[in-house]
Amino acid sequence: MNFPSLERARIAIIGAGPTGLGAAHCLHGLGITNFKVFEKEHHPGGLASSFRDPAGFTWDIGGHVQFSHYSYFDELMDQLLGDAWLHHEREAWVWMRERFIPYPFQNNIRHLPADEMRDCLRGLIGCLHAKSEKLPENFEEWIYRSFGEGIARHFMLPYNFKVWAYRPSELAYHWIGERVAEVDLERIVINITEQRDDVSWGPNNLFRFPQCGGTGEIWRRLARTLPAGSLDLGKDVVAVDTAKRRITFAGGAKEDYDILISTMPVDELVCRSERDDLRCAAAGLVHSATHVIGVGLKGAPGAHLKKKCWMYFPEADVPFYRVTVFSHYSPNNVPDGNEFWSLMAEVSESAKKPVERERVVEQTIAGMVTAGLIESANDVASTWHFRAEHGYPTPSLGRDRALNTLLPALEQSGIFSRGRFGSWKYEVSNQDHSLMQGVELINRLATGSEELTLNNPNEANRRKPSAPKTR
Ligand SMILES: Cc1cc2nc3c(=O)[nH]c(=O)nc-3n(C[C@H](O)[C@H](O)[C@H](O)COP(=O)(O)OP(=O)(O)OC[C@H]3O[C@@H](n4cnc5c(N)ncnc54)[C@H](O)[C@@H]3O)c2cc1C
Repeated sequence: MNFPSLERARIAIIGAGPTGLGAAHCLHGLGITNFKVFEKEHHPGGLASSFRDPAGFTWDIGGHVQFSHYSYFDELMDQLLGDAWLHHEREAWVWMRERFIPYPFQNNIRHLPADEMRDCLRGLIGCLHAKSEKLPENFEEWIYRSFGEGIARHFMLPYNFKVWAYRPSELAYHWIGERVAEVDLERIVINITEQRDDVSWGPNNLFRFPQCGGTGEIWRRLARTLPAGSLDLGKDVVAVDTAKRRITFAGGAKEDYDILISTMPVDELVCRSERDDLRCAAAGLVHSATHVIGVGLKGAPGAHLKKKCWMYFPEADVPFYRVTVFSHYSPNNVPDGNEFWSLMAEVSESAKKPVERERVVEQTIAGMVTAGLIESANDVASTWHFRAEHGYPTPSLGRDRALNTLLPALEQSGIFSRGRFGSWKYEVSNQDHSLMQGVELINRLATGSEELTLNNPNEANRRKPSAPKTR
C-alpha cells in the first residue's frame, strides 16, 4: 500500500451511515481533521435513518433494535443520547397456523398442532443419531442437520425464503454464529412437558431505543459532533478513478484523495470505477431489496399485541416476513399516543422473489387484517413506503470468494471498503458492527491494530453483548 500517514493524507469518506460516521468520529478523536464525508442524501444515517411522515408518524427503515457487542459503541451511545433512551425487553413471536408462537420457534413447538409438533420432535431426535463427517454444503443442509425435517419444513425453510428472498440452498451457513439459536433438545422437551413458554434468548433480549426522532436521531447527533465543514450532504459519487485517486460527483465536481474509505455498496463502487479487472468478482455479490411499509393506525393495539415488539411471518398468505409494533418502541413514534399506534412491516424482494411494488402497501394492509393485527383497513390513518434497493447483503455461496478478490485489490489502490454493503458481511452488518468497522479501520491505519470485526466476525460476535445501561 502506498499512501501518506493519516496526519498528512487527504481522506475522503463515501457515505454518512454508521460506518462512515464511525470512521469520521474516530479520526476527529485522534485530532485528525483533514477528512471529508460525502453523502448522496441530504441527511446522515444511511439505512439507520428515520423519517417523519406528513401525518406525524416516525418511521425507521425496518425496526432498528439497539444492542451491541462493544463497550466503545455503548459509551458513544450513552454520550450521544444521555437520558433520552427508552429501555425495552424483547418480545418476539411467530405467527403461523393462526396462532402466535413465542420465539425462538424451536423452543416453543408445543404451541403447534399435535401432528406438526410430532414431526418437529421426530426430526430433532433424528438429528441426534444422524452424525455426519461431511460439513453441510449450504444453509438448507445446515437447517436439516441442525433442526431435522419437521422444523425445516414447517418453519425454517419457508421463513428463511421470505427473509432472504433466496432459497436457503443458495446461501452459505457460516455467517450464522449466534444469530440462529441452536437446538437444546432437553430444554425443548421440558418446555413441552411443563407447558412452559421459552422467550428469552439471544443478544438482543434487552434493547434500547431513542425517546424521540427514531433510530436516526443517534446518527443525526453523531453527525453534529463532527468538525464544521467535514460533512458534505447531497454529494453523489458517480465515478472513482482509482489510478488518479479522484472521485467525481454528480454535477461534475471532483475531489482528490490519498485514502478513500467507501461505505457505498462495493459492487457499485467497482461499477463506477475503471477497474474492469474487478467487475466479474463484483458481479458475484448478491443482495436483496427491502420494502418497509409503515402503517399509522387510529385507536390502540389489541390486547394480544400489548407487549409484543415484533413478529415473524413464515407463511405465504401475507407479504411481510416481519412486523414491528413500532409505537411500543417510543410513544413519540406516533402523533398522539392516546389516539394512535403504529405497525411497520418488512417485505423482501429479489429476482427470485418479485414484489408488486405498486400494490405492496395495499397487500400489507390486507395481510395485517388476515393475521389479526388490525381489525380493518378503516383503522389506517397514514401509510409510508420506503424501498431500499440494497437491504440485505446476501451471504451467498460465492460471497467470500468475491470479497477475497475485491477488498485486497481495492486496498492496493488506497481504497478501504467497509460497512454493511462495503464489506458485504451480513454477520457483522448491524449498527454496532458497522460503526466499529469504521473505528477499527482508522485505528489500524493509525496504530496497526487488528480489524477484528471485518476479519474475525465470529470472534467479534462471541463477545458477550452488554446490557444497555438503564437510568
Ligand atoms: C430492514 C433493516 C432492519 C435493520 N435492523 C437493524 C437492527 O435492528 N439493529 C441494528 O443494529 N441494525 C439494523 N439494521 C442495519 C443497519 O441499518 C446498518 O447496520 C447500518 O445502517 C449500516 O451502516 P453503513 O454505514 O455500513 O451503511 P449504510 O447505512 O447503507 O450507509 C451508507 C451510506 O452511503 C451513502 N451512499 C451510497 N452510495 C453513495 C454514493 N455514490 N455517494 C455518496 N454517498 C453514497 C448512502 O446514502 C448511505 O447513507 C437493519 C437494516 C435494515 C435494512
